[in-house]
Amino acid sequence: MEPLIRVGLGYDLHRWEAGGPLILGGVEIPHERHLAGHSDADALLHAVTDAVLGAAGEGDIGELFPDTDPDNRGKDSSEMLGEAMSRVARRGWRVLNIDCVVQTQRPKLLPFREAIRTNLAKLLDVSLDRVWIKAKTGEGVGSIGREEALAVQCVVLLAQDA
Ligand code: MG
Repeated sequence: MEPLIRVGLGYDLHRWEAGGPLILGGVEIPHERHLAGHSDADALLHAVTDAVLGAAGEGDIGELFPDTDPDNRGKDSSEMLGEAMSRVARRGWRVLNIDCVVQTQRPKLLPFREAIRTNLAKLLDVSLDRVWIKAKTGEGVGSIGREEALAVQCVVLLAQDA
């Protein structure tokens, strides 16, 4: 039997605040600012978590980890993705591949790309060739270009073996 295939879309945006470092994809990136948020504000892991949950029809990150819950304050986003992965794995889903776009004017992410891909591959339990990340600037315009926020979009493909 053909495996059942489902696509999921994830998106997240966080505001910049003074003081580094930036945490993105579970990797610490030297920068003079960090992302503001209730948890550790890792916008990339939040978008990936939402994409995984959406593909499996298992809710969303706000439902599973409400920001009104004090337990989620400063929470490690790797833990949230881990819990989402366990949830979808219990239903027999596995990740086929993931592709992400990080929109940020600064800092340049290319020097950290392989570290982020490696960490994501580990969290998603897939080989490195199934994970891709690219960065785009905001061309100096809009909230991204004015360095007010960083945003992430990602798509994930899940398979459920019949
Ligand atoms: Mg978020």
